[in-house]
Amino acid sequence: MTDQQKIEFNCPAEGCGEPVRFDLGLLARKIPEVLCPACGKTCLLSPEAVGKLELLRELIAALRKARPILGEAGVGIEVGGHKVVVPYFLLLTRMTSELALKIEDGPVTFRFVVEA
Ligand SMILES: [Zn+2]
Repeated sequence: MTDQQKIEFNCPAEGCGEPVRFDLGLLARKIPEVLCPACGKTCLLSPEAVGKLELLRELIAALRKARPILGEAGVGIEVGGHKVVVPYFLLLTRMTSELALKIEDGPVTFRFVVEA
């Protein structure tokens, strides 16, 4: 994963809620601030949020690296009487692609924007 990995969250400003995107390179900046393109609100990520996003980034990078072995293993799940095998890789990336964190305005859910 590179610093260009995109993360988005919905703008916490009242009446806005538009998606705000930033890339992981932001986490290395002294003042991790993001501007909402719709309403112009400035959102400052707390040190806690930056730390947790860094951990999530490392976890996802590790999962991507382990993809060749994870892709061969799966979990069997019963769906409507049929057994479906879900590859571990898919399961793990789905589980970790969202993170609820606090920014100055309250809890916000960050989503990793998945590239094809
Ligand atoms: Zn906004």
